[in-house]
Amino acid sequence: MEKLKNKVIVITGAAMGLGLASAMEAAKNGALLSLIDYNADSLEKAKSAIEAKYPSVQILTAVADVSDEASIKKYVDETVNTFGRIDGFYNNAGIEGRQAPLVDYDLEVFKKVVDINLMGVYYGLKYIIPVMQEQGYGRIVNVASVGGIRGVMNQTPYVATKHAVAGITKNTALEYGRFGILANAIAPGAILTPMVAEAFKQVNPADPQAAEDDYAKANPTKRLGRPEEVGKLVVFLLSEDCSYVNGQVIAIDGGQSNSY
Ligand code: NAD
Repeated sequence: MEKLKNKVIVITGAAMGLGLASAMEAAKNGALLSLIDYNADSLEKAKSAIEAKYPSVQILTAVADVSDEASIKKYVDETVNTFGRIDGFYNNAGIEGRQAPLVDYDLEVFKKVVDINLMGVYYGLKYIIPVMQEQGYGRIVNVASVGGIRGVMNQTPYVATKHAVAGITKNTALEYGRFGILANAIAPGAILTPMVAEAFKQVNPADPQAAEDDYAKANPTKRLGRPEEVGKLVVFLLSEDCSYVNGQVIAIDGGQSNSY
């Protein structure tokens, strides 16, 4: 059964990683897609890859930086002009920044992480919620992280902004549930995407694979997650099957964040 048949779904950071995997899963489930990314080449490649697999899918793309408020307003308007509505929003674009202790953290990088991971998530909500409110229906999935429920060594701005995403999600749920809008966040553990591959390179530049293997040992499942596993959770949370889950931060991490 197509869980998102004819639903208009907006996805930020859609060109690779969790955004692309979720776009694929949404296309498989019958969605109409509005895909946003600031990497124009990768976005075009992602669009072609989705169309190759699901030829009947309709895709609108916009090259935009989620930390630029004017660009966000523009892609929201374009999506509504093209498809008439927005049923689901996968508010996914985010960056990790660099790895460094709090005191030594590069201030410019710190601010960039805040601009993208916090302000970018906020701007998307600011312009999409009114569209959903008008319709009396909407499903929102913000992307936090296990770094949004736990501390992570050497990643202060990432952890701070992902905790903020958890907070924004809870407030969105409180303030807009009565308009038929449900908002949840996912908190992925290590899912093997380009972003995580880059983190393993920083942890052990000489042997990133050793860093990955080492990390997997601590997971109850003894492996990293796969992007398509996240895509399936996202599709559920964006669908009408999700009807009474609201304001939750849902870990998808093989159970690792329960460990003390
Ligand atoms: P990724 O780097 O593989 O892909 C991110 C995509 O977002 C890229 O296509 C990039 O071009 C785009 N993007 C980044 N900043 C943008 C901006 N300002 N405007 C528009 N597009 C932008 O990353 P990923 O691993 O797929 O991560 C996606 C989200 O999931 C992020 O919010 C990340 O923090 C979160 N997350 C990932 C993991 C993981 O294990 N992969 C774990 C926890 C949380």
